[in-house]
Amino acid sequence: MSQKRVAHGNRTFTVQFVSTSSPETSPIPCIHLFFDSKRYLFGSVGESCQRCVLSQQLRLARIEDVFFCQGYSLQNYNQEDNNELSLWDCYGGLPGFLLSLADIGEPKGDGKDSIGNSKLVLHGSRELPKLLSCMRHFTYHDVLDIQLDIFDDECPATFSDDNINVYPVVIQNPTLQVSPAKRRKREHAPKDDENSLVNEPNNVVHLGSAVPQSDAYNEGIDTHFSYVVQSHPSPGRFDAKKAKSLGITKGADCGKLARNENVQLPDGTIIKPSDVIGPDVPGLCFYFVYCPSLNWLEATLEHSAWSRAPKPVCIIHAVSQDVLNHPSYLSWLNSFGDNVSHLVSPLEPNHSVLFYKSSLTSLALNLLHPTIFPLGTSFLQTKLCKDGRFFKVVPRTTFTFGKTLKLNEPEAYPSIDSLLDTLKIENPDYVRLAGKARELVCQKTTSMIEPGHDIQLITLGTGSAMPSLYRNVSANLLRIPIFGETNKTYNILLDCGEGTLGRMARQFGDRLTEELAALRWIYISHMHADHHAGVNGILQAWAKVTEPDQVLFITAPQAFYNWLSEYATLDSLPMDRVVFINNTALRNDRPNITEACSREISHLFNSLGLNSLLTVPAIHCAYSFCVAFTLSNGCKIAYSGDTRPCLPFCNIGFNADLLIHEATLEDTMQDIAIKKQHCTHKEALDIAKQMQAKNVVLTHFSQRYPKLPDVHIESDSPNVALAFDGMAIRIHEISQFQHFVEPLKTLFSEKPIES
Ligand SMILES: [Zn+2]
Repeated sequence: MSQKRVAHGNRTFTVQFVSTSSPETSPIPCIHLFFDSKRYLFGSVGESCQRCVLSQQLRLARIEDVFFCQGYSLQNYNQEDNNELSLWDCYGGLPGFLLSLADIGEPKGDGKDSIGNSKLVLHGSRELPKLLSCMRHFTYHDVLDIQLDIFDDECPATFSDDNINVYPVVIQNPTLQVSPAKRRKREHAPKDDENSLVNEPNNVVHLGSAVPQSDAYNEGIDTHFSYVVQSHPSPGRFDAKKAKSLGITKGADCGKLARNENVQLPDGTIIKPSDVIGPDVPGLCFYFVYCPSLNWLEATLEHSAWSRAPKPVCIIHAVSQDVLNHPSYLSWLNSFGDNVSHLVSPLEPNHSVLFYKSSLTSLALNLLHPTIFPLGTSFLQTKLCKDGRFFKVVPRTTFTFGKTLKLNEPEAYPSIDSLLDTLKIENPDYVRLAGKARELVCQKTTSMIEPGHDIQLITLGTGSAMPSLYRNVSANLLRIPIFGETNKTYNILLDCGEGTLGRMARQFGDRLTEELAALRWIYISHMHADHHAGVNGILQAWAKVTEPDQVLFITAPQAFYNWLSEYATLDSLPMDRVVFINNTALRNDRPNITEACSREISHLFNSLGLNSLLTVPAIHCAYSFCVAFTLSNGCKIAYSGDTRPCLPFCNIGFNADLLIHEATLEDTMQDIAIKKQHCTHKEALDIAKQMQAKNVVLTHFSQRYPKLPDVHIESDSPNVALAFDGMAIRIHEISQFQHFVEPLKTLFSEKPIES
């Protein structure tokens, strides 16, 4: 699909939709603006944004400026008003995004220069300093300098660089003023007294440092941002014919004129550049309009900036459907005439396939077993469609600005049926072996299940450090059947990395609400962001689907609670319904704990039906823990978190029915495992043996092994399963995993990627 238009500028640049509203990503689109020399993002950096960047082969490290569209959103703090988007919707992927950028920017051990930028400019909300400041609890880096460009008033300065001018359109909404009670709450927010404040010129902050708060931030008017973006004019054409007729014959003289210098002919005549070079070709302009609900319509349309702005060739609408249908909005659009392309990224969720490669793996694994490797909704896809004058875009849609304007629809992914046909042709051995394994496993009688062995573990994210195409970061969901109630479970999350909510949405489809409401406990093993950056999104979604008297237990290091509480002064988080228990309070050498804390622990025991619950310090970073707990039916579950082999963990987890253990690296990489404080596969299995665990699930694989880690399972090992994203295995099914090993090896016969 393409549209030809009159010639405009001759600078070519492209806009690509990295994400549009989907179960995994923010409702607000993330747009990648691509010039040869520089890359920019507009809109949101929501959860899973960096994974989308990765899956579209865009380079995270090349992005230098991010223009956010959401400012204040405190009205969302009212639980009854669920329609407004939250701050997290716009910034939820920022912690992971910044940490990955910092990692990329880290100088390599071999002394070569780092490959990424060390500078990033974030443009937008006055909440940004506070948001970055809250993140200091888990971002420790000095390689990435973040510069802030805060839009403090209604007419902020124009951003300008070699490629573009960006005019921020600051839209304030006086109808959504923060109530006095909320303002008080913000005024009494925890102050940044913990770390010394870093004051530097030009708003530069180091990732991980506390940031001074601006006084303005307690004023309570909701603010969003739209943008007018215009490329610079290009020089007009050099008219060679005319130059010749005027007597210019030497190439050097042509060069002078092109460099905007006068040339004197032998007869004394002065030839000026304007005599032979046509007028500048004006730059191309597009608008990014963010209008999340009808509440914002009037303030958006009446903004004076639009009347001063250059005429656009394209308008990107990040708006809700009711805004799009509204007569005032439509008549505003009419004022721009017919020669404008309208690209719409509706804020309502759709189901575009986002992580195709990981979906392909799910599809192949589904042949092994229909319930252990369920397909979920990863393969639902939406196509770009034309609705009246609007093109409703999907991720990967691009729009090229240049002599001609061109909208490119991404190629649709093949259907499930045709993919299965391809698999049968390309890997017949796998299909045959998978069929055999499925038969073997499904035949096995399950009448004698030990107590608790019907508990289901769903490994939502099974990779380490940062998300990859195949594996997302850590999250493990336990679905524990409620005694005496058929088909009812309560749920526990053991770690909850970025994108956990999205993965649950794909896994459960229509059952998401039910499964979220069944969540009773989130356990966070340590403060590395790949283990906890998904909690905020889960908490917001959980609050919407549960009764106001329902509580959620969170066990984590104290710093995690500090992060949540500080974040809750900026955005809606149901902190009054969170019961927090520090991992330290559960240590086997139980320290002195307060009466209040011990009451909360017994509240947790009652809610989960626990007989015991203990943590021991892991051998990883400060305040990292391994955990083991026993349910009232005697079933014992142990989870390592991230750690080197930890003997005290064998004690508290002794004889576990289920051990979930990290196994980051292959056996030959023990030196790296020691340096990074992780386990090799063998070390993890040795711990399992020492613990006398009955069933083990290995997970947290290095992203070097995106598909199948090469784990050597000895004959005297306990039952072992290797985790894949979305694997849903009951404890009694782990003994059957051995039947999957041969087909899996056939399926993934590729070598690990080089790091
Ligand atoms: Zn870690």
